[in-house]
Amino acid sequence: MSQKIQAIRGMNDVLPQASHQWAYFEGVMQRLLADYGYRNIRTPIVEPTPLFVRSIGEVTDIVEKEMYTFTDSLNGDSLTLRPEGTAGTLRAVVEHNLLYNATQKLWYQGAMFRHERPQKGRYRQFHQIGIEALGFAGPDIDAEIIVMTADLWRRLGLSDSVKLEINTLGNPAERAAHREALIAYLEQHVDILDEDGRRRLYSNPLRVLDTKNPALQEMANQAPRLIDYLGDESRAHYEGWKAMIAALGVEFVENPRLVRGLDYYNHSVFEWVTTELGAQGTVCAGGRYDGLIEQLGGKSAPGIGFGMGMERVLLLLEAKNLLPAAPGCDVYIVQQGEGASLYAMRLASRLREAGLSVTQHLGEGSFKSQMKKADASGALCALIVGENEMQAGAVVVKPLRADEAQATVTLDEAPAAVQRLKN
Ligand code: ATP
Ligand code: MG
Repeated sequence: MSQKIQAIRGMNDVLPQASHQWAYFEGVMQRLLADYGYRNIRTPIVEPTPLFVRSIGEVTDIVEKEMYTFTDSLNGDSLTLRPEGTAGTLRAVVEHNLLYNATQKLWYQGAMFRHERPQKGRYRQFHQIGIEALGFAGPDIDAEIIVMTADLWRRLGLSDSVKLEINTLGNPAERAAHREALIAYLEQHVDILDEDGRRRLYSNPLRVLDTKNPALQEMANQAPRLIDYLGDESRAHYEGWKAMIAALGVEFVENPRLVRGLDYYNHSVFEWVTTELGAQGTVCAGGRYDGLIEQLGGKSAPGIGFGMGMERVLLLLEAKNLLPAAPGCDVYIVQQGEGASLYAMRLASRLREAGLSVTQHLGEGSFKSQMKKADASGALCALIVGENEMQAGAVVVKPLRADEAQATVTLDEAPAAVQRLKN
């Protein structure tokens, strides 16, 4: 035997016994997004590397160490597997002029790639559903997005499992003023900074506060707060956002250390977090990025969005026992005797035309083993075809999930007989 080839570490298969759980979550999500007026956009998985460097920022975890970047051997271009969905979406929006005299509410879904250490809730290929609302200055859209995500948790049954944290990052000028004060503060504590902290002290000091290193928590808590550097306009945006979310009944906590791992954010930022997935506790994260479209060569327009880690939401649903059981088909056809297979196929066609889902037993098999398979398939009922039934133009309907006697019906009556069991 040849050696088996295995999947790449941190990149998972979704097997049939789990794929219906994905379909369930995707279904809830698609309904939600439609209810709030979002339309789907699909962009390539591979993009030119500079797109991510320019939008996400050079001094970020993603660009510094997590991107799958390679050279296109045909022309030497540097290409990258997308690590997130916003950059590609905005590239497409700019490229196709989607903001010309228009606003856009867009959603995307798909695989993202980051070269990090695989663990529960953290993978190298993972999946995000995300949105981008473009051309809206807010803070009303900022509030609607919070309400929409809160609505999602309600629909999934997760309202008690997640908490909302919010913060504001102000505008670039305010951040620059805060940055100076922050650098001065960090310089006083340079002896306790870890390697990441020292490297970022001058290049991205805000991110030093985002550290997960327990030894730095106290220092980070005492650092100058950006919120104290906000001007009137930024403050009004933040207060307006908070007032709307509060009035709409969504609970939140303000976390002045919430800065997000990507450079492009300003004003509103937020994360939905859970304590039930260990260190991988952020299930949905986003914020406003008013300068990004212009930075990518488009005409200046405000934007706000979020990315949701689908695996993490599914892990949470699993932990809470909120995932639906695998759906069975309606009918499993058991058949025995000369010509029974063809008879069963005709029967199956009729049933499918009537809108029923049908699995027909294929190949050999004793009556007993076929009945076992029928039961294991999750089907609502077995339809049994044997010599007698074929001669009479009939079929036996045997309910598998209800305590009901079996009955012989004609082929014409079969769809209605199954339908009755469904209702
Ligand atoms: P973290 O702090 O957990 O690394 P992040 O700030 O890097 O998250 P974002 O770039 O904001 O994450 O991505 C949005 C969401 O995508 C995250 O909140 C999380 O749910 C999910 N996510 C990010 N990286 C991974 C990963 N490697 N595996 C699974 N899900 C991920
Ligand atoms: Mg990360």
